[in-house]
Amino acid sequence: LFTSVQLAPKDPIFGLTEAYVADQRADKVNLGVGVYTTDEGKIPLLQAVMQAEETLVAKHAPRGYVPIEGPNPFNLAVQQLLFGADSDLIKEGRVVTAEGIGGTGALRIGADFIKRLNLNAPAAISNPTWENHRGIFESAGFEVIEYTYFDGNTRGVDFAGMVKSLESFPANTTVVLHACCHNPTGADITEAQWVQVIEICKAKKLIPFLDMAYQGFADGIEQDGAAVRLFAKSGMSFFVSSSFSKSFSLYGERVGALSIITESKEESTRVMSQLKRVIRTNYSNPPTHGAAITAAVLNSPELRKLWEDELAQMRERIKSMREALVTKLAAAGTKQDFSFINEQRGMFSYSGLSPEQVERLQKEDGIYALSTGRICVAALNTKNIDKVATAIARILA
Ligand code: PMP
Repeated sequence: LFTSVQLAPKDPIFGLTEAYVADQRADKVNLGVGVYTTDEGKIPLLQAVMQAEETLVAKHAPRGYVPIEGPNPFNLAVQQLLFGADSDLIKEGRVVTAEGIGGTGALRIGADFIKRLNLNAPAAISNPTWENHRGIFESAGFEVIEYTYFDGNTRGVDFAGMVKSLESFPANTTVVLHACCHNPTGADITEAQWVQVIEICKAKKLIPFLDMAYQGFADGIEQDGAAVRLFAKSGMSFFVSSSFSKSFSLYGERVGALSIITESKEESTRVMSQLKRVIRTNYSNPPTHGAAITAAVLNSPELRKLWEDELAQMRERIKSMREALVTKLAAAGTKQDFSFINEQRGMFSYSGLSPEQVERLQKEDGIYALSTGRICVAALNTKNIDKVATAIARILA
């Protein structure tokens, strides 16, 4: 039966973590996986999460099924986070939200839903993008194409190239857009450029699918929602996937959500009924624990304040690590100007290191990064940053 099954390549990120775990060097550093760690190098359990969890556990509630689309308090909290508490879209019943199994699961149910619309159009992802975007949309049956995004020379967005790509796509192409903190480059487009992207999506009848995996990691909850809010104002129908893996440090609980913005309440009812069918035939209904914690935090003014403070601390620590890396690389004698690292947003930096240089870092120093040169700045800390800066400087010399 399985004689013709070929060995699949390892997942680039989880495969790298396996190599990191097997590495015996005590001072090894994992800058590969997209996980925020504290200055002590630990994945934090947020105080807000802990408090919500303690209350929840003390209830010793039975574990029945939740609705196919997930619990309502969670879904409403997600909508308010994306669109604001007094959003007209929410009031008008134009937002359909279902819990997803992480941001990945949300993208997948969204992809499956669009596929069932039988539009016979491709899905477009940015070049480069998070590794899994292509796989998710291909698995859902899409032809996946790319739009120009990053310019390696300026280390910023090639916006003219992006516009040209978007304008060339056939109607009904699903365009996956990073709502903020582009993964892997850390380069985002400006609000004025978002306005232009929206105009193109409208004119060319493209289907925008905003992937929001890092809300709160660039400038703040509200600020990082700017692109989503602009789409909300546009009157278009669009999709948003949310991930709470990073912002709540709940990676393994798989908390995410898919929101679909429709034209009317009546349309929402029909859309939700079909989305439920997608979910029911995939995994029936979502897990309870992570969404219950997230909802408890978002729906309690005290816990929400605590969470926002903790999120701000994570954001600020990443920024201070960016600044420290730039300073230390210069101090270690690199000739190249690394100040672009301070301009990049979110957890990652496209460092510009070549695959060969990344391989040397791994072999010679036990520093693990993606072969594309992506490093997770959120995994740097005051204990490992000197080693990382010195090693990079030596390899570039
Ligand atoms: N989208 C992007 C851009 C991501 O970086 C990630 C996580 N690395 C996800 C989606 C998926 O997040 P989750 O772990 O919640 O599935």
